Amino acid sequence: MDELLPRDVVTAAIHKQMAEDDMPYVRLSLERIPEEEIRSHFPNICQRCLEEGYDVTKEPVPVVPAQHYFMGGIKVNLSSRTSMDRLYAVGETSCNGVHGANRLASNSLLESMVFADRCASEITSSELPVAKDVTDRVDWSLYQNLEQLKEQYKNIVLEEIEKEKKRHE
Ligand SMILES: Cc1cc2nc3c(=O)[nH]c(=O)nc-3n(C[C@H](O)[C@H](O)[C@H](O)COP(=O)(O)OP(=O)(O)OC[C@H]3O[C@@H](n4cnc5c(N)ncnc54)[C@H](O)[C@@H]3O)c2cc1C
Repeated sequence: MDELLPRDVVTAAIHKQMAEDDMPYVRLSLERIPEEEIRSHFPNICQRCLEEGYDVTKEPVPVVPAQHYFMGGIKVNLSSRTSMDRLYAVGETSCNGVHGANRLASNSLLESMVFADRCASEITSSELPVAKDVTDRVDWSLYQNLEQLKEQYKNIVLEEIEKEKKRHE
């Protein structure tokens, strides 16, 4: 089937095939992708599959559909405000309605950034009664040097990745 169809359609087709074959998985072939591209684009997948005894460059691998995004969550408006006074929700925990009933691929991180920005703008906007109270409690000096902050955030992420790697060694 066309694997670029919406995920629920692909998932339903995979489940149907699993039932027909009476198997707990289907096999995914990467044979149309050049070996070098597989190795350079998906090094972790290659390694993990090898650990499980599969060489993705030589044979199809068993796969099953899995949930990797939560649809639903706390209902918010277009500024990420919940129905509770002063409570905002952003990211996967929130439901802002932009995905409809079936999220399209690769737009959740974008959605999180857009709604985080809208949320921050509303919280800091002077029109809101909560704004002064909130902004008075923020130490704005932390946000003066954006380049330094970006470097700091990058290092936090890199450290976490290293920690995860060690955890799996
Ligand atoms: C395998 C996979 C592939 C994906 N691929 C893509 C993609 O290609 N493109 C895309 O746009 N999206 C993708 N997504 C979805 C995207 O990664 C998530 O929607 C996004 O990361 C959600 O961000 P978030 O900040 O809302 O939540 P999270 O990133 O889940 O952050 C929540 C954080 O809260 C912490 N936490 C939880 N409970 C507590 C607690 N009680 N106290 C303190 N901290 C807590 C967690 O440890 C976590 O760090 C993918 C997701 C998965 C799982």
